[in-house]
Amino acid sequence: MRPIVNLLPKVKHRVYSGHPWIFSSEIGSLEGTFSPGDIVEVRDPRGRFVCLGYLNPESTITVRVLSREDRDIDEEFFRERVRQAVEYRRFLFGLKGPFGDDGSGYRLVYSEGDFLPGLVVDIFAGYVSFQTLTLGIDRWKETLIDAINEYVSPKGIYERNDAPVRRLEGMNLRAGYLGEPFDPVIEMDENGVTVLVDIQRGQKTGYFLDQSENRLLARKYLSGRSVLDAFSYSGGFGLSALAGGASSVLFMDASEAALDLARAAAGRNDFSGKVAFEAANVFDALREYERSGRKFGAVFLDPPAFARSRKMVESALAGYKEINLRAMKVVEDGGILCTSSCSQHVAPQEFDDMLDEAAKDAKVYLRVIERRGQRADHPVLGGVPETEYLKFRMFQVLKE
Ligand code: SAH
Repeated sequence: MRPIVNLLPKVKHRVYSGHPWIFSSEIGSLEGTFSPGDIVEVRDPRGRFVCLGYLNPESTITVRVLSREDRDIDEEFFRERVRQAVEYRRFLFGLKGPFGDDGSGYRLVYSEGDFLPGLVVDIFAGYVSFQTLTLGIDRWKETLIDAINEYVSPKGIYERNDAPVRRLEGMNLRAGYLGEPFDPVIEMDENGVTVLVDIQRGQKTGYFLDQSENRLLARKYLSGRSVLDAFSYSGGFGLSALAGGASSVLFMDASEAALDLARAAAGRNDFSGKVAFEAANVFDALREYERSGRKFGAVFLDPPAFARSRKMVESALAGYKEINLRAMKVVEDGGILCTSSCSQHVAPQEFDDMLDEAAKDAKVYLRVIERRGQRADHPVLGGVPETEYLKFRMFQVLKE
């Protein structure tokens, strides 16, 4: 017998309309014996079947939905979900043949967006970066790895289960090769540019594929411009700018290791004469440029998520406003500002309102060139606003 989760009466449960999360505050009682990570059946206050999911009483998201059908949740179920996720990428990118033959990168599985909550899988030039971020999905790790091996035949797999969010689920952190070791610094093609992905020591899974199309779009408008790539990490935006004919790029990041990757990648693309690197705090550097009057033809701002919870949104918006306002001032009249936020808790409207405020204070007009989000291999689900986390805006900055 599956354990049963009874939903509280008189609550507007989002799960009824397809939302994949059930919070502890929505639950009336738990029946049966269970351990964290078990599959449970969720019932409405009248005792009717709602869905199946996995349970973690230690997490505020107590149940994550796996299926709205009453069916077996077994190895076959997870294999089929992985197969569907791979199929979707083949459809999106028009790929034929196994993924291992392709020199570029894709997100193969993205958690709720692929109906596999907690599982994140990226593939970089045939090498897989693998994360199970919740206890309920971690239980199925071997089945999931088997399915990945079968459906994409990767050249190698690296487990990046060193993400601190695992601690919220009561799990340990671990990282390492699953199978044969390989050189962890992977050379990958992104829109015709060589980028370097450090699958072992790089941030998150190793590379931020969600901005891939935005990097390509930005490239169109940067010919002849001097560019500041602020929060550059391994240089994705700046390298793309150089491919678009930018006259120079200053890569800036707080992490020396990130700049080392950007430097090495610039060399491989023969961009060496046009690049500079600065290990600095972007907040301080922008303040300094504003004071000294240094200007750029384009500025990229792609900071880490400033808001890790809804409570942090206000202070996060203040941080976003500060860097955007200063960036608007250090961009030349008629220059380009590409600005992003990857905070899931900051709604698109809140981000846009903040930018309008910053423009007002900086006394500039923002002419919108692009308003976009994450690439479609990081699926957004209708009715699940939490899946839409990336905001990307490209403006021409006009001063009077
Ligand atoms: N633009 C990158 C991704 C940026 S991720 C890309 O296209 O891949 C955010 C980066 O900001 C990280 O590399 C982190 O090291 C850096 N960072 C965080 N806080 C910073 C700060 N105050 N000043 C400079 N860099 C910072």
